[in-house]
Amino acid sequence: MTKTHFQTGPVTIPVHGSAETIAVRRIYCVGRNYVAHIKEMAEGDEKDPPFFFQKPTDAIVTDGTMPYPPATTDFQFEVELAVIIGTEGADIPAAQAFDHVFGYAVALDMTRRDLQFEARDMRRPWEMGKSFDHSAPIGAVLPRARAGDLSDGPIRIAVNGAVKQDSDISLMIWGVADTIAHLSAQYRLMPGDVIMTGTPAGVGPVVPGDVLEASCAGLPGLTVTVAPALTTKDKAHAAN
Ligand code: MN
Repeated sequence: MTKTHFQTGPVTIPVHGSAETIAVRRIYCVGRNYVAHIKEMAEGDEKDPPFFFQKPTDAIVTDGTMPYPPATTDFQFEVELAVIIGTEGADIPAAQAFDHVFGYAVALDMTRRDLQFEARDMRRPWEMGKSFDHSAPIGAVLPRARAGDLSDGPIRIAVNGAVKQDSDISLMIWGVADTIAHLSAQYRLMPGDVIMTGTPAGVGPVVPGDVLEASCAGLPGLTVTVAPALTTKDKAHAAN
């Protein structure tokens, strides 16, 4: 039987070096946050304020495999620094933003790029391109108490051993504190909220069998294998 990974209960992420887990409340993502990636996507202006979208909480993947999703022929990785909120707040000033951070993890904003571009061209929401099942693999969380206030460090992903994205989080247009300030002006942030902070240049497609290895600023690494697309039989089983 193919593993189907559809979650129906609470969604949790492990905390590195601990039996503790984080119950995920929401997943927010920054739409674009590195100049070189904005250029490769040929969109927008880096001086624009950050914009956000969400993924469903149960899109989280922590077991190291994700099936190739339906309805796409261009399934792409985006390696991102994820920030996990520990203390609630609204209208958080950037100078106090790190006080609301529980910790950090490496995450992948998996994207059906063909559907994202189709939506963009038709002025529709990005949802079909971004907010699908298994679209948010994430590594173990390193608490801020150990990681500090992250503002620089390498961010990389390799596919089958070949480096595809290789940048530094210091190149984010909106750093962790500014991102929290902007997002908390639109939503009250709560414990368990995950913020994916955008991806650098070098995004690209993957196919079943590919192995993705992501790292960021010394956080616990993330390795994910792309599994074959689920069959109709798998989906029927998962629904039971
Ligand atoms: Mn992204």
